[in-house]
Amino acid sequence: MVKRIFSISNPLVNIENNHSYRIFDSHVHIWGHRYLNEYLENIKKFRVERLLAIGGWDLKRNLESKGIVTNNIVFCNYLSSSDFFKFKVQKLQKQIDKAHTNEIRVLKMFVGPMFQRFTRDKNPFKINDQRLEPVYSLIEDYDMTVLVHVADPDISYLKKYANTQKYGLKEDRINDFSNLLERFPKIPFVSAHLGCLPENLTRLGELLDNHPQLFVDTASTRWMIRELGRDVKQSKNWFEKYQERILFGSDLGNFEFNLKFFLSKHRREYYWRSRYWSQRLFWETSHQAPLPFKDKDNPEGTTINGLNLSKSTLEKMYYKNAKELLW
Ligand SMILES: [Zn+2]
Repeated sequence: MVKRIFSISNPLVNIENNHSYRIFDSHVHIWGHRYLNEYLENIKKFRVERLLAIGGWDLKRNLESKGIVTNNIVFCNYLSSSDFFKFKVQKLQKQIDKAHTNEIRVLKMFVGPMFQRFTRDKNPFKINDQRLEPVYSLIEDYDMTVLVHVADPDISYLKKYANTQKYGLKEDRINDFSNLLERFPKIPFVSAHLGCLPENLTRLGELLDNHPQLFVDTASTRWMIRELGRDVKQSKNWFEKYQERILFGSDLGNFEFNLKFFLSKHRREYYWRSRYWSQRLFWETSHQAPLPFKDKDNPEGTTINGLNLSKSTLEKMYYKNAKELLW
């Protein structure tokens, strides 16, 4: 029987007061200033000291004009997904130019199957399509790093994207990305959500072995905990082996332009803190506990099966790797 141990006011496993690790969260969505101070206050309790914020190039100015301190934030420019799927190369180059002029060094690309609806082609979108060559060349010229979302959970390909004519196969999207990495070995890529492969660590290990410029982040708490918790021993060994290549990410943010914007203050706090708490319990301890929020991809309910990673792995994935790559 797994005990219910998460509570904001009185966590039995008091991760919040464990100050041995500081965190650089490499995957945060911040689109505006609303609730931002509240978010930053809440995550301070988990010692999140630095962030990579996915937002527009003008976000920094916007936040500073509102008196928000941005010293600990790396800004990351979101490139239009629709322009990728429609191969609007010049428009994408303009966005990259603008980011470069404004001293942004990190870009975000989201080319998951969800945006297949944008394409005019009959075939599924390929990240390595020759037409996009000038886009990647410019990124390479400017020495920029790319945070990229290449696919989705296996379970989504079984349900939502089961139409393979339209969406293609997940393994093809991963192979396309591998080919892109081969063609642009100088661009550092952080592949979000553990390369979208927490279900297949063997394949992910191959990608990391073959492409030294590739890194992965741990964004999406429930997806990571659900899949990696299935085989604790295998996951732990894998994390220890690739400890230099993993960045902590939450995929959280201040909810601007998001339906969660309408949550009450208490529910917002619960949302943020339950995710950080769950990830930290999962990486740092060998506890078992029910995930303190719903996992719609697992009707039986997801259990946190702690990996109890080594100190050296935690220090690298929580902070050092991101500092070296992104700061
Ligand atoms: Zn994200």
